[in-house]
Amino acid sequence: MTDDRLASPHLSIVVPCFNEESGIDEFLRRAVLAATAVAGQNFEIIAVDDGSSDATWDIISSRSCDLSNLVGVRLMRNHGHQIAATAGLAVARGERVLLIDADLQDPPELLLMMMPIMDKGADVVYGQRSSRAGETRFKLLTAAMFYRLLGRLTSVPIPHDTGDFRLMSRRVVDILLAMPERDRFIRGMVSWVGGRQVALPYERDARFAGETKYPLRKMIHFAVDAITSFSTIPLRIATWVGFMSAMIAAALVVYTLVQWFAGNTVAGWSSLMATVAFFFSIQFIGMGIIGEYLGRLVQEAKQRPMFMVDCINRGGVSRPLGILSADMRPSERRAAVERAFGIEAAPTASAQDINRRTGTDA
Ligand code: UDP
Ligand code: MG
Repeated sequence: MTDDRLASPHLSIVVPCFNEESGIDEFLRRAVLAATAVAGQNFEIIAVDDGSSDATWDIISSRSCDLSNLVGVRLMRNHGHQIAATAGLAVARGERVLLIDADLQDPPELLLMMMPIMDKGADVVYGQRSSRAGETRFKLLTAAMFYRLLGRLTSVPIPHDTGDFRLMSRRVVDILLAMPERDRFIRGMVSWVGGRQVALPYERDARFAGETKYPLRKMIHFAVDAITSFSTIPLRIATWVGFMSAMIAAALVVYTLVQWFAGNTVAGWSSLMATVAFFFSIQFIGMGIIGEYLGRLVQEAKQRPMFMVDCINRGGVSRPLGILSADMRPSERRAAVERAFGIEAAPTASAQDINRRTGTDA
């Protein structure tokens, strides 16, 4: 099929980039080599600039002049890693999609092992870190604690020591995009989809250049998102704690009455203050937990667009991308992307789209 409009690339590589000017060239070099090895010229690289304040976008848009496989997507502002990745997935047209970080911590060369596993019928091949070079002890410890806690709280088994580095089939990507939530925890959402998911152990490298974009503050936010979007157990914890404190309080009342009848009513100011403080803190913890969920409910209820795309750059030309929302039907999404590429939209849905909508994978 020579018609550009109908042909899906065999592979899309989606890479969110936030202030990655020092590493993006090396990333593109290695990604192109790996993709060529597994897909010939039949691939695209979707580089999403997540509102960088450095030269990341200039580099991406100038490289796309001589790298015809490169598609640059510029978001209107910084949306954060998970949303930037989602925007990239929405633009990707490939039959298979690799999600990867720009900092080369996850080697693109792993594609050579991931693709054959998917040939055998896997829906998802995810990288599982067997070692992590160049991470602080603190990050390793908190990450380990986080995955253990998450495992206890959620009913969806989310594999330990994985990032978002994974190769996904088209049908998994379409299901992922059909999930409307704004607080996205992609690795959990992919696990939730199910199907045949295969782990591929690898050694995680240190960052090639630049600094981590996940300071402690963002990591905590990410962890809270992960837990609240996959578990309502914390809400139940609030109930248990409230129940337990009510029992302790009842026992205290009995104790006070006994003391009163015994005539030992020397009012202990400090113990009283301690008790009050204790119960207040428990109340506030409970309210805080409820607030976390309530806040997310409010965000979801607003139904705002998940991300805003400033423009798309392909072949050195930047074009605006009208409205692209993750929750469009696959064929509509694709038509919007191809219009932005300067390719006219297909008059009728392609056979692949029909297959996709009925859930059968080619
Ligand atoms: N990133 C992004 N938007 C952000 C923060 C990060 O697109 O707001 C990208 C970043 O450029 C990188 C990936 O997400 O490609 C992972 O970020 P980072 O390497 O800083 O995270 P870490 O590996 O330290 O967890
Ligand atoms: Mg990194």
